Amino acid sequence: MSPAGGHRGRRDAVGGAGGGANALDALVRDARSAVSPLRRTLQDIFEQAAEVSEGKVASYIPELARADPAWFAVSVVTTAGECFDLGDSHRLFTAQSISKPFVYGMALTDHGREGVLERVGVEPTGEAFNSIVLDPATNRPFNPMVNAGAIATTDLLLGKDYPERVGRLLGALGKFAGRDLYVDNGVFMSERETGHRNRAIAHLMKAFAIVGDHFEESLELYFQQCSVLVNSHDLAVMAATLANDGTNPLTREQALESTYVKNVLAVMLSCGMYDYAGEWMWRVGLPAKSGVAGGLLAVVPGVLGIGVYSPLIDAKGNCPRGVKTCKEFSARFGLHCFAAASERRDQRAEINGSAR
Ligand code: GLN
Repeated sequence: MSPAGGHRGRRDAVGGAGGGANALDALVRDARSAVSPLRRTLQDIFEQAAEVSEGKVASYIPELARADPAWFAVSVVTTAGECFDLGDSHRLFTAQSISKPFVYGMALTDHGREGVLERVGVEPTGEAFNSIVLDPATNRPFNPMVNAGAIATTDLLLGKDYPERVGRLLGALGKFAGRDLYVDNGVFMSERETGHRNRAIAHLMKAFAIVGDHFEESLELYFQQCSVLVNSHDLAVMAATLANDGTNPLTREQALESTYVKNVLAVMLSCGMYDYAGEWMWRVGLPAKSGVAGGLLAVVPGVLGIGVYSPLIDAKGNCPRGVKTCKEFSARFGLHCFAAASERRDQRAEINGSAR
């Protein structure tokens, strides 16, 4: 588990007409990140978190059960475009619930804040991610980060037919990641075959007219978004895009209108870690989202994005190595959103490289 090389090829590939300038930018970013003091701190945190052995590999579908518990990757991408990748940062895994905040961003784009709020609330549940529970007063799912809310969110995605909706979904996630993303078809088939609980939730929401007539198609779309393949570097770029007001810091493409970023980050902060969200906010204080395949991303607004992959997950569906990584990272740099000024003092200097 040594620091992996960069992902330069991919970033250069997005250059288009300005390819030469982008290639040069990427070279400068790589050179800067190679000598950054942040690299040493990250390596230290990575080694500490690698000692954590709690958790189990998800086994509800065979594709996830095959993961090696030793796989571990940490990536950081700053809003200035510097990239740090440690461990198995090229290894692909499925995004699962990490797709939820990004699809929520799409729904906000398609329907506006109030339009989405009519169908999906923004209150933490304190319950498991797959709980079959709706707000008794309104029949809405509590928030877009649990399965019920995510299925209702996906149901809101516009498009004339299923292929167009899938295309929009993958296109939007790809803008966040800065590259084309693909679905793992084996995982998709398994998700749809075993997804009885998600189907039950969708039927319940249909009974209350929270989802529309095409809700079965939306379930397919939800299984697709869960099955999108990413690596830790992609997660860090996606998180850095949220940290950068919705503009991908590597491709400079706008993935989400900046006005909706705060709403996405707000639900990530209050609900992104499911029934651990309260303690997470208390300890780490960063908007984040975990997925059952072992991915975790966290956002430091204005500064950077973190992506972690470890297939060992705890009873609440979060990966303990990722939690440890983010706790340490937040503590060392004073990144908690309510950290005292004295705790925050040096963070920008080291992260931006001016402490070199
Ligand atoms: N595919 C999983 C589900 O729908 C995703 C949940 C998760 O990542 N926590 O139950």
